Amino acid sequence: MFLSGATRLLEGGRSVFLDTMKRTCYDVSSFSNSGNRLRVLVDMDGVLADFEGGFLKKYRIRYPEEPCITLDERRGFLVSSQYGQLRSDLCKKAISIWESKDFFIELEPLPGGVEAVKDMAKMDNTDVFICTSPINYYKHCPYEKYAWVEKHLGNDFLEKVILTRDKTLISGDILIDDKPDIQGVEPKPSWEHILFTACHNKHLPISPFQRRLLSWSDDWRTILDSKRQCRPLPLESSVTWVPD
Ligand SMILES: [Mg+2]
Repeated sequence: MFLSGATRLLEGGRSVFLDTMKRTCYDVSSFSNSGNRLRVLVDMDGVLADFEGGFLKKYRIRYPEEPCITLDERRGFLVSSQYGQLRSDLCKKAISIWESKDFFIELEPLPGGVEAVKDMAKMDNTDVFICTSPINYYKHCPYEKYAWVEKHLGNDFLEKVILTRDKTLISGDILIDDKPDIQGVEPKPSWEHILFTACHNKHLPISPFQRRLLSWSDDWRTILDSKRQCRPLPLESSVTWVPD
């Protein structure tokens, strides 16, 4: 109904408008239930924290005699799977790196990520959450994820951390995440997935309904604004749409 009403109101320049609308608001029922505030979920590993770089550095130190996969050669979301394909025993060796103490806390921030999230959190009518999946070996990872957030984003951001193995259960308008295919028990998550470009996904084609953020130098503000513009208006300021 929103799209059809908008079509009538905007006959001039409608194709550009509708193209944008179709990409960003293809299902108005899927907005998060957060009033007129935009809710942005930001992944951690591969988006804010340099998981791939940190892994390769520590893997080379611990296993200097073993073959490694450079960042340029990385393909596929799971590092351990690609190492396992290289040689079956390397899968376990790869996993041993991120199961080690201090792996997650020592990850370097990816360029511009911390600054972008802090700027985002200061924007009007915007709520930002760090939405991240801890590894199943929980001895160090969950603690270190919180410690990383406190170290780089500050104490206040500890309130904004969401640890979950299933991001489809979390409601939001946008999820910025480097994992190409995010699935879970909810078949229709409320968020639009913005694929954050990483060494392992940069070669993948994306569907017409998906958008990329190439890095934190890319125009994340425009992505947020496009989503904000197609949110349902609050009742007190809404225009009466003409139904078909
Ligand atoms: Mg990630």
